[in-house]
Amino acid sequence: MDLNVVGAGIVGLAHALIASQKGLRVRVIEKDHRCVGASIRNFGFITVTGQRSGLTWQRAMRSRDVWQSLASEAGLRIEHCGLWMLARQALSVPVLEAFLQTEMGSSCELHTSAQVQVKAPWLRCEDGMTAMYSPHELRFESSIVIPRIAAWLQERYGVEFQWAQDALEVQGGTVRTATHRFEAERAVLCPGTYLNGIARPWLKDFALHLTRLQMLRVRPPTGFKLDAAAMSDLSLVRYLGYAKLPQAQALLAHLQQTEAQSLADGIHLIAVQSEDGSLVVGDSHHPHATPDPFSSDAVDALILRHLRQSLRLDQFEVIQRWTGVYPTGIDQDAVILSPDDQLRIAVVSSGCGASTAFGLAQDVFQTW
Ligand SMILES: Cc1cc2nc3c(=O)[nH]c(=O)nc-3n(C[C@H](O)[C@H](O)[C@H](O)COP(=O)(O)OP(=O)(O)OC[C@H]3O[C@@H](n4cnc5c(N)ncnc54)[C@H](O)[C@@H]3O)c2cc1C
Repeated sequence: MDLNVVGAGIVGLAHALIASQKGLRVRVIEKDHRCVGASIRNFGFITVTGQRSGLTWQRAMRSRDVWQSLASEAGLRIEHCGLWMLARQALSVPVLEAFLQTEMGSSCELHTSAQVQVKAPWLRCEDGMTAMYSPHELRFESSIVIPRIAAWLQERYGVEFQWAQDALEVQGGTVRTATHRFEAERAVLCPGTYLNGIARPWLKDFALHLTRLQMLRVRPPTGFKLDAAAMSDLSLVRYLGYAKLPQAQALLAHLQQTEAQSLADGIHLIAVQSEDGSLVVGDSHHPHATPDPFSSDAVDALILRHLRQSLRLDQFEVIQRWTGVYPTGIDQDAVILSPDDQLRIAVVSSGCGASTAFGLAQDVFQTW
């Protein structure tokens, strides 16, 4: 075997794909019977617009293209494309206007409320408001496509999957679990949120901790149809592609007065739709060394208030609630470590792994 990949989340699968495309024989070792981590708890929202400028945005652009080709090759259903960013606050408009002046604003457009009412009547874009449309985004149903990608890697490239094998140690490229020794020339560790596990010797010097998110699935009335993802003002002070623009400071100061609790809970709105019509809605962000297992109803209520304010959706039923975690704590969106010629460690250290994993894996193999 040429390569052991530890972890069958999207980062591990992305490394398995890129390595297979280079002709390597690949084995994926996963401690659970199936992936149940961040990669299936997320929105399945492949976000380009709003990612941190530079490397993260470039990785997101490249990853989006890989997702697009995987959709046809592996038969992954794209639920919808594009993004509507609703500016409910007047101070959001200068942020969006400044964003459009950057290279990241390419192909994005501002729309008046009258235009939005025609193009996206489901968005609560009241008279005098503005919304930006980005064509770059894709939305997949993660709980369906993650196992599908694994199955397709096995069918298409003969990738070997070892499920329910907790990797305890790596030496050279060889990985040892409680019952097996999996030999390979090289290994890449993609442990996601398991910062204290097999990759601890190399990750311990980074100030990484976990951030916990609350998520909901709601059932809207029959016929309610989103044809793109929706976000609104709070995202403009959270997603660094907007938040690092000087114009975002005035918006942040205003939101600190008007939405202090939402900011304290790290809430911003993302709403996406599934094939059955239900919406995945979130999210909040609370930092933890070890995540608290108890979710807060008050936080969910606040997320749902932002949903009502941003979508023309007065009635819905909450049908699922869950939490997820991802690593954060450092001022970069991913860590790639190269301790020696045989080993790489790849961890996404912000909430953008679905959007950037393929670009990240391309970069790992660029020099390895
Ligand atoms: C609620 C939520 C919403 C999000 N929304 C988005 C979004 O819309 N768009 C976006 O781009 N990103 C989003 N993210 C972030 C994104 O989901 C993550 O960045 C991405 O899934 C990380 O992938 P991963 O493979 O590193 O981690 P994981 O999916 O957690 O996978 C890591 C895998 O490694 C396995 N593992 C760990 N240690 C071992 C070991 N020793 N032996 C064997 N196996 C091991 C674990 O069991 C796990 O299956 C969201 C995250 C969350 C939690």
